[in-house]
Amino acid sequence: MKKTLYLKFILAYLIFGVFGFITVTIFVPPMTNNTLLKDKADTLYSEATLIANTYASGLYSSNTSLETVKLQIDALSVYMKSDIRVINPSGRVVLDTTMPLNLDEAVYIDDFNPIVISGSYYIVDDFFGTYDSDVLTVMAPITSNYMIKGYVTIHTPIYDINSTANTILNICYITLAILFVLSFIILLFFNQLVYRPLRKITFGAEQYAQENYHYEIQTDSRDEMGYLAASLNYMAGTIAGQEDDQKKFVANVSHDFRSPLTSIRGFLEAMIDGTIPPEMHEKYLNTVLNETDRLTKLTNSLLTLNNLNTSGMMLDLSNFDINQVIRDLAASFEGSCRSKNLSIALSLTGEEMIVRADSERIKQVLYNLVDNAIKFSSPDSEIKIETTLRKNKLFISVKDSGIGIPKDDLGLIWNRFYKSDSSRGKDKRGTGLGLSIVKEIINAHNENINVISTEGEGSEFIFSLPIIEEDEL
Ligand code: ADP
Repeated sequence: MKKTLYLKFILAYLIFGVFGFITVTIFVPPMTNNTLLKDKADTLYSEATLIANTYASGLYSSNTSLETVKLQIDALSVYMKSDIRVINPSGRVVLDTTMPLNLDEAVYIDDFNPIVISGSYYIVDDFFGTYDSDVLTVMAPITSNYMIKGYVTIHTPIYDINSTANTILNICYITLAILFVLSFIILLFFNQLVYRPLRKITFGAEQYAQENYHYEIQTDSRDEMGYLAASLNYMAGTIAGQEDDQKKFVANVSHDFRSPLTSIRGFLEAMIDGTIPPEMHEKYLNTVLNETDRLTKLTNSLLTLNNLNTSGMMLDLSNFDINQVIRDLAASFEGSCRSKNLSIALSLTGEEMIVRADSERIKQVLYNLVDNAIKFSSPDSEIKIETTLRKNKLFISVKDSGIGIPKDDLGLIWNRFYKSDSSRGKDKRGTGLGLSIVKEIINAHNENINVISTEGEGSEFIFSLPIIEEDEL
């Protein structure tokens, strides 16, 4: 395909050249000849009519002598580079500029018939055999008393006309040749601006068809070709990114499933073969239970993420009191807080604060944030949940005084399976999916979530929700 497009253009170029020359050769010579012939005939006919109406008619009305007229038409003949004759309707040549005046011997043109020229005012032939080659003849009648007395004929050789026509034809050929050479420049431009970039794009498309999405099409043109190449590069980059993400995702999921399964298997085998004595079974069964908890949590998180993606995040929006949701949530975490001697302080705006959102999903967001806050809090510290009203938005903040997040990790914590190095030791059960679920839910509400954190001091997660004014209820 690559070669044919270029060949097609070369072929079109050659066809253009050949047809151009054929057209010029076929149409230009007859057209030029005709035009020149008509032009010449026009001029000669005017002259012939003039002679017929002046000198020649004087001849038949016996006003002027043959000698006088002969002298005059001789002079005209030299000037016009043509032969002039005065012929009687019977065919007798009265005057002829090619011959001296001879009154003694009458010269006749055999078969002279003025009808041959009727219908046109000129004719190209040997004029009744009086010339060896073709001449252009015009004929004007000499009339007197409404009768035709004779004819004035002017004959001029046509090789003059032919040579002028040839000169014009040569000019046409030269112009065509120049045009042909100049249009080659268009071909060069086409090659440079269209064909070469197109070849690169085609090659790139082939690479993408072979799933080599990391290939980059190199073009520096800033026209439609450049735009097409950039769009393809962008598309391939996105697919490559998605592929990489998918691979990473599968690798992470497999890894996160394998480690608890390996440890469960290890403990159970050790219990069966007696490596772990029966009196220690309870302790290790609890560890096995914890590992199954982790697997359940991981499975649930994956299902949640999958639902969020596949349902295009269909939200079940309703108006509900977020203050009540926060209070209930804080109460449900009391048990978890006790072991680390943590307290949850609430600082809520208003007794009741109605927001419009998907309540179950927002509960999940708050659950994940508070769960993280508890996990990463230092013992004996306080976790603060605060709401602030600004314009028609409610900002909800979950703040802890825990290990904090390193500055370099702040942009990464929203990624799936991300767990910062510092948290790994403290949180063996974390999946690294909690915050990506949080972000997807908040974004689906067209709201934002941000984090402010200082390593070693603590973190604050703030997200917004739209509130419903009392008059809207
Ligand atoms: P996980 O289930 O591991 O907690 P998340 O997506 O909820 O997964 O969190 C990702 C990572 O972000 C955590 O492993 C931790 O490193 C960091 N992180 C999240 N919340 C906090 C917090 N409140 N304080 C410190 N680090 C946090």
